[in-house]
Amino acid sequence: MDDIGRNDQLAQWDRDYFMHPSTHLAQHARGEAMGRVIRGASGVHIEDRNGNRLLDAFAGLYCVNVGYGRPEIADAIAKQAKELAYYHAYVGHGTEAAITLSKMVLERAPDHMSKVYFGLSGSDANETNIKLVWYYNNILGRPEKKKIISRWRGYHGSGLMTGSLTGLPLFHDKFDLPLSPILHTSAPYYYHRDDPDQSEEEFSAQCAAELEELIAREGADTIAAFWAEPMLGTGGIVPPPKGYWEAIQPVLEKHDILLVADEVVTGFGRLGSMFGSEHYGMRPDLITIAKGLTSAYAPLSGSIVSDKMWKVLERGTDENGPIGHGWTYSAHPVGAAAGVANLQLLDDLNLIENAGTVGAYLNQRLSETFADHPHVGEVRGEGMIAAVEFVEDRDRRKAFDPAKKTCAKVATELLSQGVIARAMPGGDILGFAPPFCLTRENVDEIVDKTAKAVRAAGL
Ligand code: PLP
Repeated sequence: MDDIGRNDQLAQWDRDYFMHPSTHLAQHARGEAMGRVIRGASGVHIEDRNGNRLLDAFAGLYCVNVGYGRPEIADAIAKQAKELAYYHAYVGHGTEAAITLSKMVLERAPDHMSKVYFGLSGSDANETNIKLVWYYNNILGRPEKKKIISRWRGYHGSGLMTGSLTGLPLFHDKFDLPLSPILHTSAPYYYHRDDPDQSEEEFSAQCAAELEELIAREGADTIAAFWAEPMLGTGGIVPPPKGYWEAIQPVLEKHDILLVADEVVTGFGRLGSMFGSEHYGMRPDLITIAKGLTSAYAPLSGSIVSDKMWKVLERGTDENGPIGHGWTYSAHPVGAAAGVANLQLLDDLNLIENAGTVGAYLNQRLSETFADHPHVGEVRGEGMIAAVEFVEDRDRRKAFDPAKKTCAKVATELLSQGVIARAMPGGDILGFAPPFCLTRENVDEIVDKTAKAVRAAGL
């Protein structure tokens, strides 16, 4: 924060009253944190209150997929708020916006999906999905089949159960997590394999064998579901190695374990396909959606339920009465109106196609630029998401000492040049996930400035 920011009243109120999420609280209170007050945005740019215009190469928290300042969505929100700001969806009530959005979501979802339940955040949608998995197994008369396996480096939210699913120590330590029904298996992080000569397919087979062993150790009749992002996001932006989903899914099928695809990041186009599941040939029983559903113009998330599970849930309510699960704001009409306008805009402007083609250019330019860099271990990504991983020793794939905060230095240098990228938790990994309306000229600016920032950080 500069002097103007530090000295003015808003910055003072910010330090005095506002407890920020995922923030070093003490540093923020002392005015040492890197946060800025943002006052406006348009397209791929945001502007802070000191007039600095920044290219947001992370689309907020990889959520403003259609870009900032879209009047189509803002107008839909205003119209909905004026006509009907709220009515609940309990006991079968509906609003035109929520009903229309449910149809639009199912039209875009994989064919075997049947219904969508709407929540507010990715975390609460995963929480809903855990309850649906447990309810399903209770209705099927197997109350002991409740444990859930997720992956180290997975990110699924920061509630009690969803923070437990998350496989990042920062979200567990000092919170007494993970809770006991959650187990973790290894991340499919091929770059960090032990055996440098192992092929991607061999590594994938090893991941599947490890999963099989965990299931055998715990007992298949105690394992309800496997939880995974199609591509690891917050835990490092790591696309699955070749053959990963082909190796994992038969193990789940063999032991009658549900697959939950957390598509909070990948849903609605981030990989250049509508869903990451179809991109990688996954056949999930539940899909978690959030961010890209409204491009974050309003908070809205969802749980897309497969035919297979829906039939059991229906049976459950015939046997037991209404399902005891719901939020006041489930299917909030203002959020739903934002979702309808957002999905329409993705279609009208061919933004998912653009995410695929311009995203490929971003990945190509990053790969070329850092191909021979001695401190870049890997450039990876797919569609409109990419990462550059910095290492001390490229040949031995040896990480920098975390205390050096290498990637944070690069991100700070890049910010000073007017581009926002994210230093991902759990390694020196610089993440890019821009809005889908990015142009090739924007890509050139991002990549050229990243190269400069890497030099300025002394690498
Ligand atoms: N799942 C994934 C894959 C995410 O990336 C996130 C957030 O980044 C979440 C769940 C949690 O979503 P929220 O922050 O809206 O609770």
